[in-house]
Amino acid sequence: MVHWPGDPEFHLNRVRDYANGDDLVLSHIDLGVHTGTHMDAPLHFIRGGATIDEIPLDATVGRARVIEIDDPESVKLAELEAANIRPGERILLKTANSSGRWKSAEFQEDFVYISHEAAAFLASIPIRAVGVDYLSVGGFYKDGPETHRALLGAGIWVIEGLNLAALTAGDYELICLPLKLMGAEGAPARAIARTSTIGVAA
Ligand SMILES: [Zn+2]
Repeated sequence: MVHWPGDPEFHLNRVRDYANGDDLVLSHIDLGVHTGTHMDAPLHFIRGGATIDEIPLDATVGRARVIEIDDPESVKLAELEAANIRPGERILLKTANSSGRWKSAEFQEDFVYISHEAAAFLASIPIRAVGVDYLSVGGFYKDGPETHRALLGAGIWVIEGLNLAALTAGDYELICLPLKLMGAEGAPARAIARTSTIGVAA
């Protein structure tokens, strides 16, 4: 699967298998913790920051809002300012990434990212969590560390690698839980969004 250049590749190997005469299947995986849909903890870019096992479960479980971003280059201040974002919101940013970039097995260097200015704006509100639809909140060429530091330094929990293709703008119930890797700066996560059948959760 596609991964950030220089990060470890994902491997899943069967160490025991029926095909080898074993009477069960047993697999081994190795991967970077920033593989596929995953979360970043503050420690990723903040010295002494919280680790992924310290995430409060309600950071990424509860009501979330999908905001559709038109800008084909980056998430900029103007589009966020128009969205009337309130403190404590969980925000998922659906960009042009969702409609095409996941189809390629090659890493897409020109993915839509959150500009440093827009990240600082989200940090000033501040929101509870932000999710993006490619492998990093920051850009490949620009605003990588800056955007991470602005968000993570404000205590905003970061979800990366979402596929938001099936969602339109509006409110959903988000359930995103990272693996509890003790002391790690990030972890793979399974994330789903649904139109709630039990009323929109807080
Ligand atoms: Zn990451």
